[in-house]
Amino acid sequence: MQQIQQVLPGLGDGGEMTASAERHLGDQIARELYRDTDYIDDPVIAAYVQDIWQRLLAAARARGELTPELDERFAWTILLGRDRNINAFALPGGYLGLNLGLVAVVGSRDELATVLGHELSHVTQRHISRIMDKQGKQMPLMIAGLILGMIAAGKSRSGDAGQAVLMGSQALFAQNQLNFSRDMEREADRIGFGVMTQAGFAPQGAATMFEKLQYASRLNDNGSYPYLRSHPLTTERISDMQGRFQFRMDTVPPLPLAMDHAMVASRARVLTRPGVDVLRLWIDSASSGEFAKSSPAQQAGSLYAAALSAKELRDYKTAHAMVERLVVRTAEDPAAAKQARWLGAEIELAAGAPPKAAALLDARSKERPEMLLSAEAATAMRQPAPMIPVLRDWVAANPRDATAWRALGNLYGAGNDTLRAVRADAEANVAILDYPAARDRFKAAQELVRQSKVVDHYEASIIDTRARAVEALVKEQAAEPPLK
Ligand SMILES: [Zn+2]
Repeated sequence: MQQIQQVLPGLGDGGEMTASAERHLGDQIARELYRDTDYIDDPVIAAYVQDIWQRLLAAARARGELTPELDERFAWTILLGRDRNINAFALPGGYLGLNLGLVAVVGSRDELATVLGHELSHVTQRHISRIMDKQGKQMPLMIAGLILGMIAAGKSRSGDAGQAVLMGSQALFAQNQLNFSRDMEREADRIGFGVMTQAGFAPQGAATMFEKLQYASRLNDNGSYPYLRSHPLTTERISDMQGRFQFRMDTVPPLPLAMDHAMVASRARVLTRPGVDVLRLWIDSASSGEFAKSSPAQQAGSLYAAALSAKELRDYKTAHAMVERLVVRTAEDPAAAKQARWLGAEIELAAGAPPKAAALLDARSKERPEMLLSAEAATAMRQPAPMIPVLRDWVAANPRDATAWRALGNLYGAGNDTLRAVRADAEANVAILDYPAARDRFKAAQELVRQSKVVDHYEASIIDTRARAVEALVKEQAAEPPLK
């Protein structure tokens, strides 16, 4: 226990967990999640979620819920998981887990903003650190293990490594509920609602989200809604929210389905890997009688699911046909047309036609999904030069973007610049907090410098500086007690 207190200096005698100690703990959990096979950085869904998330953070700042101290110390990072189960969870230190299953069932940005605003409020109200305090000062690492175990237990698949953690923590779990208290839930509802409406999201989104959860709750659908287990809908919560909406929930007019939202939800559905039979069903449904009767937005969603499903099945002929219909269907909606164009490029890349992909893309785009697609096309065509400065600027501004570092490394590789490729790969490992792997890559880069006849002294000195910094992080990490 002595050792734990040393590495978590924020745990003072007052029993309060400081922001930096909570962040430290969050980093340890995030490091495990980044390694999880379910973790996915899908640029299209990430960009959609980020847009909502940044608006919520700005509103929380404006309202004073998000203090400058927490703003600076916490990660404010959303980790996406391929899991089909409907779940979102706040983690220590400003990390948030979001399952694609949840993205797939929300009917609007506003519904998604309701869930994210609620989770954000658990973090800004320091609910996690308050739970930690209750559990006792020496427990945070056990709790970190417990959180990982609970995430694993909520998954659609079983037999994960996390399962073992759960077993080990079960006694602790029985005695101490990690779940937030009822009061905390109501507070997160109240503040989350204020934040999401101030950010410009429609209050009906909160109403329809609650309706959705109530419906699942009545069906007792706990299996696919782990979210309901960690956020039980008590009668107090429901009546609080109803009062907030100032109208009865069953008379709320539904928000119209936005075309681009339907497409992103379809993407989330396909990326949860539902299996070959389901993918085939989605392809067939784009030619069904039901399809003809559905709304334009629903049709765009169906065509998107069909095209992406065909791509997953490597049936590029069908994928092309579906994406052509999608382009026609979305022509009058700029946000939806852009999604269709990106999907078209993605299909061309998968089909081995990178010049066709590049022709669909704007290589100067500042939007992350388009930039990463352009980088992939440039790498595949072995014409990396124009995209290298774009990616270099991006990682300079976003050093924690592991996917962009990997894309930059691939571009360097395509240009036979092995040294810079290896360094970019090292930085990608730093970004996912895997310091030992990063150290190995930096050592490999230093070895390349030693062997080369022509040395780029500038690059060599950056590598040495970064290698030393990462070595220090490795030592710090080695001093931590393991989570599992
Ligand atoms: Zn909650």
